[in-house]
Amino acid sequence: MKLLRYGPPGQERPGLLDPEGRLRDLSGVIADVGGEALLPQSLARLRGHAWRELPLVAGSPRLGPCVAGTGKFLCIGLNYADHAAESGMAAPAEPVVFMKATSAICGPNDDIVIPRGSRKTDWEVELGVIIGQTAKHVALERALEHVAGYCVVNDVSEREFQLEGTGQWVKGKSADTFGPIGPWLVTADEVVDPQALELFLEVDGQRRQHGSTASMIFPVAFLVSYLSRFMRLLPGDIISTGTPPGVGHGQRPPVYLRPGQGMRLGISGLGEQRQRVVADC
Ligand code: ZN
Repeated sequence: MKLLRYGPPGQERPGLLDPEGRLRDLSGVIADVGGEALLPQSLARLRGHAWRELPLVAGSPRLGPCVAGTGKFLCIGLNYADHAAESGMAAPAEPVVFMKATSAICGPNDDIVIPRGSRKTDWEVELGVIIGQTAKHVALERALEHVAGYCVVNDVSEREFQLEGTGQWVKGKSADTFGPIGPWLVTADEVVDPQALELFLEVDGQRRQHGSTASMIFPVAFLVSYLSRFMRLLPGDIISTGTPPGVGHGQRPPVYLRPGQGMRLGISGLGEQRQRVVADC
């Protein structure tokens, strides 16, 4: 299933992209795409629902973030060896973990606002993992049972805020609109192998990033198990699993986003995002 949320910011309703590519309303069936609706038994019930009976959504409304009520937005740094190299950093022996403020979350096609004082706003296409049931000290071989589904994430990053001040990357990762997620949450049963997905990102039609989740240093199952040693993962939590090479900061010379530019990014089977870059005013 491809679960989504549509409508104006803050007033999104749950929906579904049907097998024929049309939007259908789920608000008569679940309260929202999030929390208990992501539990395995809830998803199984939803899967059994006759989608042809769900009301069609008229027009083409804005898509909101594909999951509601995210408590933790965890990110993995330098999880592709070739991206670590372009960043001038060694491939890590253990996952590099940081967080993005959940207030950064926005819809997949919302404008990206370059924050005030920014000179180095950058892009990062990533596979997002959405937790479906509570995970604490989960064994590696059971880790994927705790995943509700996957989505595209643009881990928008301000490199000066991230790297040139005092410690912690969170400052460069958390501005408003720095966390587009979606267009949909593709349930895990439709993703045959999360380590065989192609990712790409273009800026103004120019291909900047291209990679495969096969190149991850730490695969999804490992990350879920690993993180669950340090904190309880809850339904709706997101793990953004790192970016392949080709970020602006890694170019020679570096290039960063400017107002008026456009991004298009996607992952095989998970859909695409399109964002316009605008100035903070
Ligand atoms: Zn990232």
